[in-house]
Amino acid sequence: MARLVMKFGGTSVADLDRIRNVARHVKREVDAGYDVAVVVSAMAGVTNQLVEWCRQAAMLHDAREYDAVVATGEEVTAGLLAIVLEGMGVNARSWQGWQLPILTDNAHGSARILDVNGAELIKRFKDHSQVAVIAGFQGMNKDTGRVTTLGRGGSDTSAVAIAAAIGAERCDIYTDVDGVYTTDPRIEPDAQRLKTITFEEMLEMASLGSKVLQIRSVEFAGKYKVRLRVLSSLTPPDLPVAQEATSGTLITFEEDSDMEQALVAGVAFNRDEAKITILGVPDRPGIAYQILDPIALANIEVDVIVQNIGRDGMTDFSFTTHRNDLKKTLDILQNVCRHIGAREVLGDDRICKVGLVGVGMRSHVGVASKMFRALAEEGINIQMISTSEIKITVVIDEKYMELAVRVLHKTFDLDQPQRP
Ligand code: ASP
Ligand code: MG
Repeated sequence: MARLVMKFGGTSVADLDRIRNVARHVKREVDAGYDVAVVVSAMAGVTNQLVEWCRQAAMLHDAREYDAVVATGEEVTAGLLAIVLEGMGVNARSWQGWQLPILTDNAHGSARILDVNGAELIKRFKDHSQVAVIAGFQGMNKDTGRVTTLGRGGSDTSAVAIAAAIGAERCDIYTDVDGVYTTDPRIEPDAQRLKTITFEEMLEMASLGSKVLQIRSVEFAGKYKVRLRVLSSLTPPDLPVAQEATSGTLITFEEDSDMEQALVAGVAFNRDEAKITILGVPDRPGIAYQILDPIALANIEVDVIVQNIGRDGMTDFSFTTHRNDLKKTLDILQNVCRHIGAREVLGDDRICKVGLVGVGMRSHVGVASKMFRALAEEGINIQMISTSEIKITVVIDEKYMELAVRVLHKTFDLDQPQRP
């Protein structure tokens, strides 16, 4: 029988009524003949509360105990959903990460999944038609046997990993939005639901700040070729299976699809960033390394990097980091500057990143100039530009973020019904 993974996020299991609703979604697929593994998040707000308690207990705490605490949110939901399913006459049992097991590395707090053993799940599908309800977000440290968690939003990654392990036909991610949109509908009400998006586009959207899926889950799905679908858990659970199957957004592999790809899939943005500029940097080999190496050693992620052409032996060097890392970065660079003889370091936390993403860009010219013209017509100054094969990102003043998103959305006709 075909296997299916269904994953439900925190808002979808926020209370017992919603958990009952989730159970009806599960029963529909079971009745349609699927062997189902369900992965659940903690009830909305629970993980935040658990994290907060750890912080209050001690600002600096052992990450292993943090994991012991925050992993419990999902355990509650898994047990409750199994109880409700049983009550509806569906054979079900709950599972914690260590029971399968889901093995991870030892990076407590943001562990990576190394292996999932799906053998027992498959055996129970066959022997007892038993639905597996698995606590998301958690695994087991392969060296110590202690509970680990996968980083915030990690249940998405649990679901994809389990789908890969049991050879599921698809992994359906049920959430509080009904799919992936051309941009955030809270900023552009005319944003359209994408019926399909490719993995690469989804990765770029996630890296630009789209929060629909944890980025690691998309990487994982790409690597293990798991078909992913994002859809709403708030639709009626008794929707006919065929109709349900066409809702949401299917994340496709480019090589599987023979359709003409739209030029641009969406506009993404991120306002959690800051820009750092070093003025009067001596223009000689090794300078970029001397600036960025101490930043990397401090575990600070760097994104857009720009260096001007040198003049009179001097150049300027800019890059972006997460806003929370701005102060730390400036502190480090004060020393570096003195060391390399640069003139001055400036930090600006009132910037944002706005980007266009689309695999169609590969085969089309003029996307960048059309984008820059649209921004110019609104008087929006571009501070930095970076491009990849399927993405163009600009750094601008954060006060123009919403305007830029709306203008670009319109310029690339994203307010029209999207890809079939
Ligand atoms: N409950 C965890 C969180 O809030 C994991 C998840 O929901 O994916 O981050
Ligand atoms: Mg989530």
